[in-house]
Amino acid sequence: MRDAKVLAAACAAASAYNALLTDSGPGHGPCANLTPGACTARPSPRTSTCGAPSMAERHLTPSKITAWLDCAAYLDLKHQVEAGIQAAPSLGQGSFAQLLTDKGLLHEAAVLATYRARGLRVVEAPARGDRESFSTWAKRVGPLLHATDWDVRYQFPMVHNGIRGVADFLLRQEAGHGAVTVEPVDAKLARKEAKPGHVLQLSFYAEAIAAATGTLPERMHLWLGSGDLETLLVADFDAYWQRLCSGLARTLELEVSTSAAVPEPCAHCAFCDFAGVCDARWRSGDSLVYVAGLSCADRMVLHDAGVATLDALASCTAQVPGVPEQRQSRLVAQARLQRQARAQDEALPPPFSLVQAGEDPVFGHGFAQLPEPDPGDVFLDFEGHPFWRADRGLFFLFGLIQQCADGTWEYLRWWAHHEAEEGEWTAELVEHLAERRQRHPGMHVYHYNHTERSSLEALVEDHGVAQVALTALVETGAFVDLLPVVRNAVQIGAESYGLKAVERLTGYERGHDVDAGAGAVLEYERWMCDGAQDALDAIAAYNEDDVRATRAVRDWLVQHRPADLPWRPAVLDPADDLPELDARVEALHAYGSGTPEHLLGDLLGYWRREWKAYLAPRLVACEGDTEDLLAEPTVLADLKLVGQVERLGKNGKPIRPLMRFRFPPQECALEDKVLFPVVDGPPAFADIARLDVAAGELDLVWSTGLQKQGVFPAVVAHDSWFTPRPKPAALSALADAVLNPAVAANPVALALLRGELPRFLPGRGPAGGIFTDDLDAMLGWTAALDGTCVAVQGPPGTGKTYRAARQIRALLQAGKRVGITAFSHHAIDNLLEAVVEVYRDLDELEDLHAVKKGGPATWTSGEVAHVSANRAAAAPTFALVAGTTSFCSATHYSYRRSPKRRTQERAAAARLSTSSATR
Ligand code: SF4
Repeated sequence: MRDAKVLAAACAAASAYNALLTDSGPGHGPCANLTPGACTARPSPRTSTCGAPSMAERHLTPSKITAWLDCAAYLDLKHQVEAGIQAAPSLGQGSFAQLLTDKGLLHEAAVLATYRARGLRVVEAPARGDRESFSTWAKRVGPLLHATDWDVRYQFPMVHNGIRGVADFLLRQEAGHGAVTVEPVDAKLARKEAKPGHVLQLSFYAEAIAAATGTLPERMHLWLGSGDLETLLVADFDAYWQRLCSGLARTLELEVSTSAAVPEPCAHCAFCDFAGVCDARWRSGDSLVYVAGLSCADRMVLHDAGVATLDALASCTAQVPGVPEQRQSRLVAQARLQRQARAQDEALPPPFSLVQAGEDPVFGHGFAQLPEPDPGDVFLDFEGHPFWRADRGLFFLFGLIQQCADGTWEYLRWWAHHEAEEGEWTAELVEHLAERRQRHPGMHVYHYNHTERSSLEALVEDHGVAQVALTALVETGAFVDLLPVVRNAVQIGAESYGLKAVERLTGYERGHDVDAGAGAVLEYERWMCDGAQDALDAIAAYNEDDVRATRAVRDWLVQHRPADLPWRPAVLDPADDLPELDARVEALHAYGSGTPEHLLGDLLGYWRREWKAYLAPRLVACEGDTEDLLAEPTVLADLKLVGQVERLGKNGKPIRPLMRFRFPPQECALEDKVLFPVVDGPPAFADIARLDVAAGELDLVWSTGLQKQGVFPAVVAHDSWFTPRPKPAALSALADAVLNPAVAANPVALALLRGELPRFLPGRGPAGGIFTDDLDAMLGWTAALDGTCVAVQGPPGTGKTYRAARQIRALLQAGKRVGITAFSHHAIDNLLEAVVEVYRDLDELEDLHAVKKGGPATWTSGEVAHVSANRAAAAPTFALVAGTTSFCSATHYSYRRSPKRRTQERAAAARLSTSSATR
């Protein structure tokens, strides 16, 4: 459903474009019969169902359609080139786009090798003839789909409904009774999940397969760069694909020479061959797209108000309806500075103005985020290759400058040419920074943009190194990102606030240049191909320039900050649990890598890492430009404080007050909780008491903690964190038990941690020591397990629930107390229901004493008691107890062992340590 949601957004964008076409002038609007739902024929982008001439000379490919989703103007330009009325753009070979193409081909080759290694019959489509048209080629090879001598077709050309494409792979499978299925498979570099364009390409291949074989495939697949195969149901996306085809049909009916889509900057521009064409068009029109910090929504409102150029915005004195006053004055000031910069000698530093602190709690307060300079300060920058391999990127250079005792600044660098080195140097870098902070408690690690800090956090987690040390540095405020400082302290006559633009304020002269960040990637790729040392030297020189320029920007900010403004505290208060966690982890890690204790040390930080992975992107999102945030539904931006609203409880006494904010129109997907960053402290959290999007009002419950913090948000982000509180506590209790034999530890948890094999009461284990799925055999050993566990695994529909329900009855009959747990109530209810059925079928319901804690009250007939309190569920009257993993981690179920049991466990532990020593 996630993909369906993404596609819905994509199709909404496509619909918006179609609306634009409708307005494009008389004679060029879409055929009324093509309105979705009005025409019963399946729309084809090449064959108008209303008899309009088809544009047979235009060619569509799935990748063109993907680009069209991002950018309405792309197809127009592409067709204008094909029609000879627009010069072909340079294809950017040797660029980042070419690099991606090459990496994509390598990934495809790896997938091909995987199919071959699996012993599948892989057959490549016959090659296209020298002068053969694509359609003729597809027609010639099409019948091969019906052959039976293949399992995988590679690079298979297909033409259907005016769209042509080459499917990476087609999978053929016998579906029984002589039926055969053919399913499309694409290889893409995306690592986490399919993107809308990828799914639509597959939808096209699925439809083409249906046309060729008479059967619409049920499934389609994507081999992601991570190596995972993502399988999607064709039916989930077919409706979107059909709707998209309607939009394409309308687009193709337009005359090439009169197509009127206006290029708008989008994510595709970075890879687009027409980037130069659009740039020239925007510049010649003095477009607003180059006003720094101006959003697409701003552009539309300003355009509608007749303020369509940078010059017009710079001259604008009247208030534009729909743009808040403060925002307009910020945008006008920006445009004026850029106009001033255009008029002066390019070699001069750009004009700037310092932003005065005002009502806005963020804009104008950049200088307040600066700590006092310290001799121990460090300036840091990384270089990385996002597509080092299809399944992972690589940070290949960590560079920094620091001041030596003689006052000079030295440049240190660490090269990582493979994963192990990346982990090694990550650990060494963090150790270096931590050690420096010990010697210089007031030192900070300056970087430009959040990448260095957030990448370092990801790296320590990936490699399992230096996590505690880095957390201590981050939480005590050692890292200082200068980009938000700049953005909220100064306005500059530049089109961007990137480092290269901002360093021009300082007069810093770069000694070297590798073009840009992507240039470093290309240079590194060159070194990977032919080992060219000059490529590494060029990257290092570029990296050194970046860190020295970062220092120049920091010094410039220090020179220009108001002299009477207090410095940000050098050291911020860390979270409370850090030292304790640190000590437990250290003690467990002292057992050495590869031991169960070391593993438990890693597990202790699991929820903390989850929390950080959850929190970090939300805090970063809150730091964006207001104009971008207004288009982001998971945050509510540009909040203006109205004031405190007092409240009385039912008894007439004052209860926690509300804090009321107003906000401008924006999309909003907030629910019941929000979080927001606090400049010099940990983030703050608040419950939503009232959110009226139409009225632009938000009431937050103003807790005592928030009252003490005394900070008010300008941006809040949706908070959906469900606290795992009892789980970290349960892990900590297990750690305490492992570290201190006097504390009781649950033997099953220990067995799981140690990876012990199942043990049974003498003579009661599976026959011959072999597990089978025979129910009688399973019931034979179920109640004889001796302090260990057995994992039963199987795909859906193989009878796990059926067997588990009967095993539970066997355990209850043996006088055991049984727990059912899962992450979701749905999964718990599923098994509980199966247990109830077993007892009902045997007419033994009166013997079942079951309770379920929390969740929906599915059982109202009394077969299962439903309680809301942990203590009630823990009552000894219940023999079968069900609840989520949070409930089962609660202290009511903490393990307490009898003296007799303790003696047995010690003996078992002694046996085990002897046997593991001899293994
Ligand atoms: S450069 Fe951007 S706006 Fe222009 S055609 Fe390409 S994607 Fe569209």
